[in-house]
Amino acid sequence: MFVKKAIERETLSINRYPDGGAYYLRKELSKFLAVDEDEIIFGNGSNEVLDMIARAFLKEGDEVLIFQYSFIVYKIVSLIQGATIKEVPVEKDFSRNLNKLLENISSKTKIIFIDNPCNPTGVANLKDEFDNFIINLPEDILLVIDEAYFEYAKLHGVPNGINYVKPINPKVPKKNVIITRTFSKAYGLSGLRIGYGIADKEIIKILEKVRQPFNTNHLAQIGAIQALKDQKFVEYSVSQNEIGKEYLYEELEKLNIHFIPSFANFVMFKSPVNNLYAELLKKGIAIRPAFGVDGYYRVSVGTMEENKKFINALRKII
Ligand SMILES: *Cc1c(COP(=O)(O)O)cnc(C)c1O
Repeated sequence: MFVKKAIERETLSINRYPDGGAYYLRKELSKFLAVDEDEIIFGNGSNEVLDMIARAFLKEGDEVLIFQYSFIVYKIVSLIQGATIKEVPVEKDFSRNLNKLLENISSKTKIIFIDNPCNPTGVANLKDEFDNFIINLPEDILLVIDEAYFEYAKLHGVPNGINYVKPINPKVPKKNVIITRTFSKAYGLSGLRIGYGIADKEIIKILEKVRQPFNTNHLAQIGAIQALKDQKFVEYSVSQNEIGKEYLYEELEKLNIHFIPSFANFVMFKSPVNNLYAELLKKGIAIRPAFGVDGYYRVSVGTMEENKKFINALRKII
């Protein structure tokens, strides 16, 4: 509500160009995250930050490492630069062994992208695994940790990636790490298109070279400032998500449907019938095929009413 009001007020100034440097939002976010202002870059959604990373750091012949079933955008932005993709298989239960990334690094490897948690599977790696991975990561590799669902996942033992932007301890040399986050998920502002990256200021300087001067618009900047000030909303949306997820788990279990416990705001499950998507759509419910994972679907956690509607429809179909 605060966000909508602020944006309504600001529509009077849409005849002017936005502030390309996002001065006020940068100040707010820097305070909120306790990082320096020059350690932040804003994007038109964090998707644009991912794109800027690829444009700034990848060229033909480079190799990009990702896990199987990663967020699809890493592939898209890397292939456009002429880089090749190496996909590291996940385990049978969709979990990810970070050591397998280390084993697959070659002389051509430039960037590793990890979505933690992963979209669409919902799995994540915990702090201890990540600490160990960062310690063993070669210093010439750029690691991008995509934390689009951080606000949901932080309750469950995932690391705060921002801690890896500085050396993890005095004995370990600094690694090249970029964290991406967004206002699209727990903050509920996906339509405004605003996200950001956090990294060492030398990395940010390079990214700034490929950023369009007015990439984030005025209303998005205003909305994000208000959203940051309204942490009650984020807490509420995170707690509703937890309740909704527990409900979905319980009901899916009762229906004998295999699902993957999720660190995010969606649940991936194995479809019990062939044409589930079309059948649900007939009942006014849209879910998504889990991109790339054959036979699996991804349902977003909704309001309790929506969750119940989904489960009831599912029960009727099977
Ligand atoms: C939604 C999502 C994003 C990016 O969303 P933006 O709206 O562009 O900020 C990035 N990574 C993952 C894994 C996502 O699911």
